[in-house]
Amino acid sequence: VMRYFDERCQGSRRLSERAKAVIPGGVQHNLAFNHPFPLAITQADGAHMTDVDGNRYIDFLQAGGPTLLGSNHPVVRQKVNEVLDSCGPVTGLLHEYEVKLAELVCQSMPGVDMVRLLGSGTEAVMGAVRLARAYTGKQRIIKVGGAYHGWSDQLVYGMRLPKTGRMEAVGIPRGATGNTQECNPNDLDALRSQLRWNRLRGGTAAVLLEPLGPESGTRPVHPDYNRQVRALCDEFGALLIFDEVVTGFRIGMGGAQAYFGVTPDLTVLGKCLTGGYPMAGAIGGRKDIMMMLVGGIGTTAKRAFVGGTLSANPLSCVAGYYALLEAQRTDAAGVAGRAGDRLRKGLEEIINRLGLPYVTYNMGSIVHLQTSGVLLLDTSSLWKLFKVKDEAKRRKHMMEEMGAAYTAHGLITLAGSRIYTSLADTDAVIDDALNRFEDV
Ligand code: PMP
Repeated sequence: VMRYFDERCQGSRRLSERAKAVIPGGVQHNLAFNHPFPLAITQADGAHMTDVDGNRYIDFLQAGGPTLLGSNHPVVRQKVNEVLDSCGPVTGLLHEYEVKLAELVCQSMPGVDMVRLLGSGTEAVMGAVRLARAYTGKQRIIKVGGAYHGWSDQLVYGMRLPKTGRMEAVGIPRGATGNTQECNPNDLDALRSQLRWNRLRGGTAAVLLEPLGPESGTRPVHPDYNRQVRALCDEFGALLIFDEVVTGFRIGMGGAQAYFGVTPDLTVLGKCLTGGYPMAGAIGGRKDIMMMLVGGIGTTAKRAFVGGTLSANPLSCVAGYYALLEAQRTDAAGVAGRAGDRLRKGLEEIINRLGLPYVTYNMGSIVHLQTSGVLLLDTSSLWKLFKVKDEAKRRKHMMEEMGAAYTAHGLITLAGSRIYTSLADTDAVIDDALNRFEDV
C-alpha cells in the first residue's frame, strides 16, 4: 500500500507538503482520514475522480454526501453558468431561483411549510435550535447518541470521536453546553426519564436527532424509534427536530421523514440541498414556528434572528434547484439506493466467503462498512470501549490503514467506513468496485 503512495502519488505528496506550511494539518478536510497524505484532485465527474498524478478512482466519498447526482453534474453546471453570466454570484436581493428552490423543498418534505436558506448544516442546526427555544420558551435540548450536528459551541458537546476516544472539542466556554443533554439511541426509557426530569426544571425545547441514527446510521435506530420519539415529544411539549443534513433528498425527495412517515416540527437540511455547491444549509418547518424568524404571525413580537450575507445567493439557489429537479426527474435516490443495495450485497458475499469479521449494512445510498471491530449500537458502549487501553488508537490505526488500502486500490471512501453511492454508479461501476474491495 505504501509503495503505491511512494510511486504513484508524488504530485499529491508535493502539494500536501507545501500545504502544511499554510494550512493547519495540510488539508482543510479530514473527511477521508487522508492517510498517509491527502490526494490532490484535478478532475471529478460522475462516479470517478482523477488525482494530480493521473490516477483514477471510484468516488464513494461524494464529497461527504452532497453530490447525489455524481460529481460535477453537467445540467447543474450549465444552469449555474447561466446565472453567473446574468447576475454573478450574489446580489443581496430576491432571485427567482430562491423562490423556486424554496417551493421545491416545501413540496418535497412533509414537515416543511417554509424554508430559510443558510450557509451550512452547522448554521442551520444552530438556527433550528434557536427557533425551538424561541417558540417553546424553554431552554434544554436533548440530542441523541453522540451525533455530529456541526461544530457550534452548544452541540459539539460530548463529541468523543471514534478516532481517539478523547473529547476532541476544546475552546468551548464553560456554560455553553449547560442546556445540552444527550441520550442513547433506541433507549426510549432514558429519553422519557430525561424529559420528565426536565419538566420539573423548565422543560425541554427540542429533541434533536438524525432519523437513521447518530452519524447517519453508524449507530442505527430501530424502525419504530422515530415515531416513538415523536409521541414522547408531543407528550412533553418539546419540538422534534430532524437533522436531515445527510438523509435529506438522499433517502428520497421527502427525506427520512417521508420514508419513516414521521413528521418533525423542524427539519435541518444541507449537503444534497445544493448538489455540492456552496451554502448548503436550510431550516424548514411548520409555518407558525418558522414565522418567528420575522417576529411571529401578525405581531411585532419576538424575533429569532438568523442571518448571512451570502445566504440564498443566486448561484447556490440555481444549483440547488436544478440539482433537486434532476434528482426528482431521474429518481436519483432510487437509482443510487439500488447501487447501494448491490454494493452491500456484494460486500456481504465477499465478507462471508472470506470469513472476515466485518459488518456491512445500508440504507439506500448510505452504505456502512465496519472493519475495525464490533458494531456499536449505542453511545455508552462507544465510550466504554474507549476506556479499554489503546482501543481508540487501535481503531484509528485500523481505519487509517484500511482507508489507505482502499485508496491504493482505486477506491475513495469516507474514512474507510462509509460509502455514498450516487446516480452515476452503474452496475459496471459497482462490480468494478467489488473486485477492488475483494483485493483489499
Ligand atoms: N448535521 C449532520 C448530520 C452532518 O452530517 C453534518 C456534516 N457532516 C452537519 C450537521 C454539519 O453540516 P456542515 O458541514 O454543512 O456544517
